[in-house]
Amino acid sequence: MKVYFLGTGTSQGIPIIGSDHEVCKSIDFKDKRLRVSAWITWEGYSYVIDCGPDFRQQMLASNCRKIDGILFTHEHADHTAGLDDIRPFNYRQGDIPIYAHKRVLVDIKKRFEYIFETENKYPGSPSVKAIEIFDNVPFSVGNKMAIPITVMHGKLQVFGFRIDDFAYLTDVKTIAESEMEKLKGLKVLVVNALREELHDTHFNLQEALDFIALLKPEKAYLTHISHMLGFHEVVQKKLPDNVFLAYDNLEITL
Ligand SMILES: [Zn+2]
Repeated sequence: MKVYFLGTGTSQGIPIIGSDHEVCKSIDFKDKRLRVSAWITWEGYSYVIDCGPDFRQQMLASNCRKIDGILFTHEHADHTAGLDDIRPFNYRQGDIPIYAHKRVLVDIKKRFEYIFETENKYPGSPSVKAIEIFDNVPFSVGNKMAIPITVMHGKLQVFGFRIDDFAYLTDVKTIAESEMEKLKGLKVLVVNALREELHDTHFNLQEALDFIALLKPEKAYLTHISHMLGFHEVVQKKLPDNVFLAYDNLEITL
C-alpha cells in the first residue's frame, strides 16, 4: 500500500494569504502546505481521503488518474470544498462513490445542492454515489475493509480510517478508549498536530506525541499543520525517532 500526502496544512494552508510570518515566507518546499488530504493506493485501487479546496492542484501534482472513492472525515470546508473538481474523474469513470457519516452527507448535499439535483441537472455537473458509513461498521474499499474510527474535533464527531495496519486521523482533539482499541498494532499512524500552543479542537504537538506514545505505532506522521508549528526542518529535529512531520507530496510505502 502506498500513502501519498496530497496536503498537510491546516485550514488556511501555508503560506497564508498576505502573511509576513517567517514560515509563510520560507523557501523550503516542505514548509508549503496545501489543505489536508491523502491518497491511498494498492493493487490498482485508489482512494482519496477528503476533498478540500486544493483538490485540483493536488490531483495534478500527484498525477492521480483514477479514484475508486473519496472518504470524508467531516464536513468542514478545508475537507470538502474541492468536490466540484471531481468532474474530470466523472467524465472518465462515471459517478464517484463518496463515503461519509450521514451528517456529513446531509451537509455536502447543502453545500453542493446542484450535484444532487435530480431534475434539470446541469450537464457536466459532478456526479457522486453517496455511501453512508456507520460507527463500528467496517466497510469495503476495493478488496480491503476500512474501519471507521470516531474521534472528537471539539464537539464535532469526525471519522478517521484504518485500512490494514495503516490509520489516518485528522482534526482530533479527543478520542474514546473504545476507539483507541481499534488502533492497536499499527505500522503507520497519521495524526494531526497543529502547533505548540493548545487549541480547542485540534491536538497540539505535545498531545499528538502523547497519543503516539500510547498507541506505539511503528511510525507516525504528523499532518494538519499550522505555520505556527515552525519550520519543517527545525521541528523535525525535535521529534522522537519514529515520528515524522509529513509534507506535501511525500509518499510512503507500507
Ligand atoms: Zn481541518
